[in-house]
Amino acid sequence: MTTTAFITHRDCWLHDMGSFHPECADRLAAINDRLIAAGLDLYLSFYDAPLATAEQILRVHPESYLDELNASVPEHGIRHLDPDTAMCPGTMKAALRSAGAGVLATDLVLKREIENAFCAVRPPGHHAERAKAMGFCFLNNVAIAARHALEAHGLERVAIVDFDVHHGNGTEDVFRDDPRVMMASIFQHPFYPYSGADCTAPHMVNVPVPAGTRGDAFRQIVSDRWLPALREHKPQMIFISAGFDAHYEDDMGSVGLVESDYVWVTQQIKALAEECGHRNIVSILEGGYALSSLARSVVAHIKALADL
Ligand SMILES: [Zn+2]
Repeated sequence: MTTTAFITHRDCWLHDMGSFHPECADRLAAINDRLIAAGLDLYLSFYDAPLATAEQILRVHPESYLDELNASVPEHGIRHLDPDTAMCPGTMKAALRSAGAGVLATDLVLKREIENAFCAVRPPGHHAERAKAMGFCFLNNVAIAARHALEAHGLERVAIVDFDVHHGNGTEDVFRDDPRVMMASIFQHPFYPYSGADCTAPHMVNVPVPAGTRGDAFRQIVSDRWLPALREHKPQMIFISAGFDAHYEDDMGSVGLVESDYVWVTQQIKALAEECGHRNIVSILEGGYALSSLARSVVAHIKALADL
């Protein structure tokens, strides 16, 4: 049986963008509850996320940006960086744990201590550009993990697959000029953040889909567009920007995926890794705001990662 790690930290609950904000700590509570209800906690290895170090973060974000983020943390209450994205006193602790989770997952997988990992963390990361917080994101967790694999472990090629309903503009911003990292995504378009349809670099396989897209069309695109490009790239490790806001029940977007689609795409990614001669997969939570469908989808995704 596969050993799958579940990496999180209680500090990720500290980040609060105000009452009724959809990106809230209840998301992690819902995932925990569903994990236990499914009996999955017996089969996973649990780890506390460490704080990401400055060295790890500066592989993606400039120092001036990190300084600016630290200086923006309010002593009390909430400070908005944009209409969607706000900081509270606990935000940087949560953000450093979220980035640290991906780094730890990468270390554990590459040291063969576990086979793969899911990081249940917030704030999410894929909208965070090199020097811009936006879309509920501050540090680009998946980008920091991918650069860690390249720079600290000496990998030469990795991939990031992103099935969040929104385009991962931050991830594209970081890796647009770094062909060691293939990004493969599907995202609703035109839709926030209104990017992703214009980059023609061969290592950026970002596929826009219209509102109303369902699982059969999603699977066709994965089969026709992602997998051939990824096979050619031969990534030595695959990161997943695992957003679950493309679920049918999630009002944040208008794409109609269901749990079986998340299981299917996870199995495709696992099979691709094996074709590339390894099982190195690190999955990091991005969006997903309808609490029930988020938690059910995460459990389905983890079961597929763990072959349960
Ligand atoms: Zn999203």
